[in-house]
Amino acid sequence: MQRHQRVVAQVATKVKEYFTLQQSFRIQHGSTNSTRPSLKKRVVDISELKNVLKVDTATCTALVEPNVPMDRLVEATLPYGLVPPVVMEFPGITAGGGYAGTAGESSSFRYGFFDRTINEVEMVLADGQVVKASEKENEDLFRGAAGAVGTLGIATLIELQLIQAKKFVKTTYHPTRSVSQAVQEVREQTEKSTNHYVDGILFSKDHGAIITGEMTDDIPVDHKPQTFSSPWDPWFYLHVESRTKSASEPVIEYIPLAEYMFRYDRGGFWVGRSAFKYMHFPFNKFTRWFLDDFLHTRMLYRSLHASGESQRYVVQDMALPYPNAEKFIDYTDDSFGIWPLWLCPLKQSPQPTMHPHTKGALKDSQMLNVGLWGFGPKDPKQFLKKNRDLENTLGELGGMKWLYAHTYYSEGDFWKQFDRNWHEELRKKYGATTLPGVHEKVHVDVEKLESMAKEDWGLRLRSIWPLGGFWGIYKAIRSGDWRIPKNSTWRWNQ
Ligand SMILES: Cc1cc2nc3c(=O)[nH]c(=O)nc-3n(C[C@H](O)[C@H](O)[C@H](O)COP(=O)(O)OP(=O)(O)OC[C@H]3O[C@@H](n4cnc5c(N)ncnc54)[C@H](O)[C@@H]3O)c2cc1C
Repeated sequence: MQRHQRVVAQVATKVKEYFTLQQSFRIQHGSTNSTRPSLKKRVVDISELKNVLKVDTATCTALVEPNVPMDRLVEATLPYGLVPPVVMEFPGITAGGGYAGTAGESSSFRYGFFDRTINEVEMVLADGQVVKASEKENEDLFRGAAGAVGTLGIATLIELQLIQAKKFVKTTYHPTRSVSQAVQEVREQTEKSTNHYVDGILFSKDHGAIITGEMTDDIPVDHKPQTFSSPWDPWFYLHVESRTKSASEPVIEYIPLAEYMFRYDRGGFWVGRSAFKYMHFPFNKFTRWFLDDFLHTRMLYRSLHASGESQRYVVQDMALPYPNAEKFIDYTDDSFGIWPLWLCPLKQSPQPTMHPHTKGALKDSQMLNVGLWGFGPKDPKQFLKKNRDLENTLGELGGMKWLYAHTYYSEGDFWKQFDRNWHEELRKKYGATTLPGVHEKVHVDVEKLESMAKEDWGLRLRSIWPLGGFWGIYKAIRSGDWRIPKNSTWRWNQ
């Protein structure tokens, strides 16, 4: 705790310096899952805040510094037979990023976004003051900073709820043969109290699988645990595809709990397949084994950022009302032709909130998230046009984007989605107006980027195929992140 207080004091001093100079800054913690280009100038480094300080079995809570990634978090709690209720699928997503951003996964239909599983946060405000925020103290800050991407201050410590862990997830793949069947199946599965986890993959309009999970300690004698973390293991989405392609009945498997939680890590759901496409490299079991070190999410996102390819890659998660989900999927198919799609049911956060939410006649306690990840048009103008169109169509259908990725809304259009007054009053109350605003942080300024690209020979070189790809691989290797999965103790066969 002493070390923690010392580091927080250093962070607070740095923040205060910027406050005195009335200068804005960005938060840096050594990694990111956000796909926006980094234009960082002034930064506050919180990378030292990376430890789980305590796991309390009596209160079923953990004291977690913000830079703790999901894999280290699970490794710290599992030995106590406990696990966080919401664990983001990518092992590198941090607790602080999960609170400050929008983060949710297949248990979020039960628990809501990650921040809803937090009891208390310690924050450094924009003037350097260190405060606590919870339901009991500074409640408006506690809820208002969730999903506000660091625009109200820096989270420096989190008290997280934990639940009893079991050894396995009894996982059922329910095959679906149409989009409407899949949407209906997800909704019905979220209504069953036995399900801890529900998500889905649509491989095409006429082939999908809704995946449900129940935690259990027992595995029938005729079942062998299915794992996804070793180089020879299948990628999860390919496995589900092949198990459900011609199945007429649900298929059941038993997956060790942590293997289930990080099941999408190898291949980054299916984003990793794009790297093969970009490099014109054969995509098969052998090449996936051979390149395994490069195909975990941390490495994939390092390469994606460094290569510059993220500028033409669509990575969007969008939450919308169930009744409009099929129409929206028809639209993404026509306009982008990107498959597979990810379906994830989400429990709404109470209003007001900076998380995606549905309003008006379509308001419901639950929404459906559609993950759309794949190459967009090469031409930057076309790319922008398609993305603006995506934002408009999503809005017309009552949906909203998660704010981790590219957003192109004008400031006015952006704020129509949220309670701007509430958010700005909070920024005033907590002295945060010197920090960059949400729109400023999440908006991609295409003109600025284009003019930067013209002036910067490095960026120009990277736009030439395959130089960007090789640069991305080089930077990913330099990061050393390929070592992390090898030393991860959550893996079943370690
Ligand atoms: C490709 C992709 C796939 C994703 N898939 C999933 C998924 O499967 N499940 C899921 O739950 N989420 C997913 N997300 C969303 C992800 O959880 C959020 O983007 C999350 O905020 C990322 O956390 P990070 O640790 O990478 O933080 P960053 O990207 O570094 O930070 C996110 C924002 O929060 C701010 N921030 C970071 N740390 C702090 C802090 N300590 N205090 C205050 N502000 C802070 C940053 O300034 C930044 O604006 C995905 C995102 C991407 C890009």
